[in-house]
Amino acid sequence: MDFNDILKKFKEEIEKIKEFDIKEAKRYFENLKVKYLGRKEGIIPNLFKKLREVPPEKRKEFGQKINLIKEEVEKALKEYYEFLKQVEKEEKLKKEYVDVTIKFKDFEAGSLHPVTKTLNRIVEIFTNMGFAIADGPEIELDFYNFEALNIPKGHPAREMQDTFYITNEILPRTHTSPIQIRTMLSQKPPIQIIAPGKVYRRDSDPTHTPMFHQVEGLLIDEKATFTDLMGILNIFLKEFFGKDTKVRFRPSYFPFTEPSAEVDIGCVICKGKGCRVCKGTGWLEVLGCGMVHENVLKNANIDPEKYQGFAFGMGVERLTMLKYGIDDIRLLFENDVRFLRQFKPFLT
Ligand SMILES: [Zn+2]
Repeated sequence: MDFNDILKKFKEEIEKIKEFDIKEAKRYFENLKVKYLGRKEGIIPNLFKKLREVPPEKRKEFGQKINLIKEEVEKALKEYYEFLKQVEKEEKLKKEYVDVTIKFKDFEAGSLHPVTKTLNRIVEIFTNMGFAIADGPEIELDFYNFEALNIPKGHPAREMQDTFYITNEILPRTHTSPIQIRTMLSQKPPIQIIAPGKVYRRDSDPTHTPMFHQVEGLLIDEKATFTDLMGILNIFLKEFFGKDTKVRFRPSYFPFTEPSAEVDIGCVICKGKGCRVCKGTGWLEVLGCGMVHENVLKNANIDPEKYQGFAFGMGVERLTMLKYGIDDIRLLFENDVRFLRQFKPFLT
């Protein structure tokens, strides 16, 4: 075999290394190394073995040639070994590369739910007027939810509130009024509280959900009047909806107040011209209120000869819908971020 052919073949073979990816190239490199330099069957060690068969006078020249090839092969292998090491290093760097200048996705700050915002605002306005916050259980006894509020069993007013009964005597409260009874039974007048909380009714349509929030208010002292009530609610509604809000009181009926009234505001959508939301009347009902019924005071161990007071109640979801122009209450409970995101600017 011609020595030059061996070298030429080797160079062709090692040049191919560049066609492989780094993993295959490394394997190919090792195989090539064994093929040419391997102790047992390597091409070059085999040439040295043949040296014995060469006539003595040619042996020196033959030996020198093999050594030259060996040196060339070793040199090339060393070069390619360095080359592979370099490629491997670059690939590793490429894989681990972190672009610190890349623009990251902005984190979105969360915001309060519109119902929470409305609830907070209502509570804020009333606490500013001196009302304390009272709390009570969401699962109530019939006594606190109905009986004490002048709604005995069989009273037609029970039909007004679709109740989820747990037993005949135990129910999820249908309004936050039981908190008023509990407060009157545990505190001596003067009493000035608001009772915010969740209430439950068997109702589900675009304007009703089985759970919603109410805020009720109660003020009991020796000289509270209906005019005081009107004044306080007028202030509240103008604070909540804006100072130009029109407010009107309409006589109504509730078993726990006498006299009773419903409170309307000028339609926030059409400004009183008449629209779908106000059913063409220009007015929107937002509150119920009245002077606390004598029977309710008696049921709560308060002397109606000495004390009198007023109460009011409102639905938080309804006020939220009117304030933000939402026409389906269910949007408030679907927790779709595309909907909720719109309330970010209203941080107050
Ligand atoms: Zn309207």
